[in-house]
Amino acid sequence: MKIERKVPLIIQKLDALLRRISPTHPKIQRIKEELRKRSSGHRGEESSDFHLSYLPENRYFILNGLRLPDEKGHFFQIDTLILSTSVFLLLEVKNYSGMLTFDQNTKQLIREIDDREDIFPDPITQVNRQQNQLSTLIQKAKFPQIPIIPFVVISNPRTGFRTLSNQPDITKKVLHAATLPERIEGISLRFQKEIVSQKDVKRLSRLLIKKDTSLDTNILEQFGLDQSEITRGVHCPSCYKIPMMRLRGKWSCAYCESIYKDAHIHTLYDYALLIDTTITNKQCTEFLQTSRSIAKGLLISQNLPFTGSYKDRKYHLPSPNSL
Ligand SMILES: [Zn+2]
Repeated sequence: MKIERKVPLIIQKLDALLRRISPTHPKIQRIKEELRKRSSGHRGEESSDFHLSYLPENRYFILNGLRLPDEKGHFFQIDTLILSTSVFLLLEVKNYSGMLTFDQNTKQLIREIDDREDIFPDPITQVNRQQNQLSTLIQKAKFPQIPIIPFVVISNPRTGFRTLSNQPDITKKVLHAATLPERIEGISLRFQKEIVSQKDVKRLSRLLIKKDTSLDTNILEQFGLDQSEITRGVHCPSCYKIPMMRLRGKWSCAYCESIYKDAHIHTLYDYALLIDTTITNKQCTEFLQTSRSIAKGLLISQNLPFTGSYKDRKYHLPSPNSL
């Protein structure tokens, strides 16, 4: 069983923000840089998913991008969790380029690239902590104790890694994504004893999926932006220009000449991603930059659930998590 990896909510929010903020806004570079970092991480995870697709499907359950609560009420994230009846594997995927040095004394990762050095927290420490947090969660769920093996996965095949001299070997903990299938098969030969049944593994995966909570940040707050800085109007789903014109019951783009019947739905998603997951008729009129009666007609035609009486009715937009 495999759970498809969704585009993380934060990437959807940054995309929506970038198409709805002036290209000359002083914070635009910061927003672009954040999107670049997040997208690079996501691409790294997707490339590791590609290598995992070579594993025999009937033996492993693969869960992607979990964000789970620990016993202190904090959340921890697992890029990929591979479950079998004899052993679990926990992967932390890093899409770094350059040359990486794992310094196990200072617990830092030093990356050399283009004649400069960047320092990151040690991913081995990070993945060991996730292993403990997951182990506690599994124990609390009265699930039998099963070995959990953590790995740091380097997704870029051109990235080198090493330790400082006299430090213990890290190749048991750090590997390149392309070697995942053979490493996992090797581990499953070492852990042949079945500890739980297939049914138990399914039950645990269902529990983890239930506990999975995506991080839902308020993106405007994160960048210190005000709602008034967000461009209103229906965006073109093809070229992303704003606004589209309403002509004979359809949306028309003056830039790329696309015509859409339902472009407003994409704009309402942007509203949900950037501002709020509920919307009134008045807010919809303003955000779509259309007339009250058109906004009302469009909201009603979406068959959205709503609360409140006729006058102050709030329509509930699809949760960004489900987009
Ligand atoms: Zn267009």
